[in-house]
Amino acid sequence: MFGLFKKKLKDVVDKFSRKTEDEVKEEKIEEPIKEEIKEEKKQKKFLGLFKVKEKEEIPEEIREEVLIEEPVTEQPEEEISKKYEEEIIEKPKKEVVAEEIHEKKKGFFEKLKGITKVKISEEKFEKLFEDLELVLLENNIAYEVIDKIKESLKMDLVNVPLSNVKKTIEKSLKESIEDVISFDKVDLLKKIKEKKPYIILFLGVNGAGKTTTIAKLCNLFLKNNLRCVLVAADTFRAASIQQLEEHAKKLGVNVIKHDYNADPAAVAYDGIKHAEAKSIDVVLIDTAGRQHSNINLMDELRKINRIAKPDFKIFVGESITGNDIIEQVKQFNEAVGIDGIILSKLDVDDKGGAAISVSYVTGKPIIYFGNGQNYDNLEEFDKEKILKNLDI
Ligand code: GDP
Ligand code: GDP
Repeated sequence: MFGLFKKKLKDVVDKFSRKTEDEVKEEKIEEPIKEEIKEEKKQKKFLGLFKVKEKEEIPEEIREEVLIEEPVTEQPEEEISKKYEEEIIEKPKKEVVAEEIHEKKKGFFEKLKGITKVKISEEKFEKLFEDLELVLLENNIAYEVIDKIKESLKMDLVNVPLSNVKKTIEKSLKESIEDVISFDKVDLLKKIKEKKPYIILFLGVNGAGKTTTIAKLCNLFLKNNLRCVLVAADTFRAASIQQLEEHAKKLGVNVIKHDYNADPAAVAYDGIKHAEAKSIDVVLIDTAGRQHSNINLMDELRKINRIAKPDFKIFVGESITGNDIIEQVKQFNEAVGIDGIILSKLDVDDKGGAAISVSYVTGKPIIYFGNGQNYDNLEEFDKEKILKNLDI
C-alpha cells in the first residue's frame, strides 16, 4: 500500500523544504546585512565611549570578550555612564549596558551564521504548495482532503518563524492525515453477536470484489464460531451465482439461490427465512454489481433493501478506482443508505489516496481492507497502520 505515493510524498516534502530554505535565504541574508551596518555604527559609538583605539586589529570574537568583560577605559565610571545614558539608552549602569550589548551581539552573530529561523510569506507558500498539491492529486487524494492539508500547512508554515522547515511540514502533514482518517471504528463482529440473524447487504459496481469480499468475511465469521449463509441475489449474471456457490463449497456453508434473472428481492427474502429456520447467525447477501448511474438497477436495489431490511449495508469498492469511488459511495448511500465501506485490492494500489479520503469525504467508515485474493487477505481498518505505511 502507498508504494508510489509514499516515495513521491517524501520527494516532494524534501523539495518543498529545500526550495523554502533556498528561496527564503535571500531574505535571511538581507536582514542581517542591514543590521550589520546598524550594529557596526552602534559599536563604533560604544567603542568610542570606551576609547578602544586599535579596534580594527582585534578579531571580532575576542573584541566581544574584551568589550564585555573588561572594557578598556580611562574615564571614571560615572562619566561613561552619563555619556552612554545621553547617547544610547537610559540605563546608566555599565554592567547592564555591557550585558545588553552582549545579548544583541549574540543574536546578531547567530543571524550571520544562518541558523536563524525562516519565515514563508503566504504568496511564497502558495507557489511552494503547487508541487505537493500535484502529488496529492495524482495519488487520488480528494479535493476536500487536499484543502484540509493545505489549510493546516498554511497555519503551521506561513509567517511563522521556522527553524526546521522539513520537520514542520512532516508534522503538519501527519497531523492532518491523521485527522482525516480518525473516525469511529465499527466493530462488526460485536454487532453480529447482538442480533440473530444478522443481515448484511453487499453493494458496489461490477468487478469491485464484492463476491470475494463476501467469502472473506464469511471465513472471518466462521472463525468466530458464527454460522453463515450466503444469498445469491445477483441474478443478473449466471456466472455470479456459480461463483458464490464455489466459495460456499470451499467454506462449507449453504447458498440460497434462485434461477438466473429471478427477482433478487425474493432470493434475499428466502435467504433470511432459511437463516431464521436454521438458527444461522449471519446472512450475507450478494447483489449484482451496478453502476451508480443506472436508475433501474438502483431502483431494484431499493426493493431488495425494503424487503431484506438489512442490519448493515456494506459498500465494496476498489481502492484503485481512486476518486470515482467517492461518487459511487454518495450515490449508493442516497439510494439505500450505507453503513460502512470495504476497500478491496489495496495490495495492488500503489497510490492509496482513496483509502485516506473516502471516509472523510463521505462520512462513512472504512471497516476492512481487502489486500489479496485469499480468504484471509482481509485487514481491519487501522489508522496507525496507515500512518506507518505512509511513513511520515
Ligand atoms: P460530480 O458530482 O460527478 O461532478 O463529481 P465531483 O467532481 O464533484 O467529484 C466527486 C468527489 O470526488 C469530490 O468530492 C472530490 O473529492 C472527488 N474528486 C473528483 N474528481 C477528482 C479529481 O480529479 N481529483 C481529486 N483529488 N478529487 C476528485
Ligand atoms: P465482484 O464482481 O464485485 O463480485 O468482484 P469479484 O469478487 O468477482 O472480484 C473481481 C476480481 O478481483 C477477482 O479476480 C478477484 O479475485 C479480485 N479481487 C477481489 N478482491 C481482491 C483484493 O483484495 N486484491 C486483489 N489483488 N484482487 C482482488
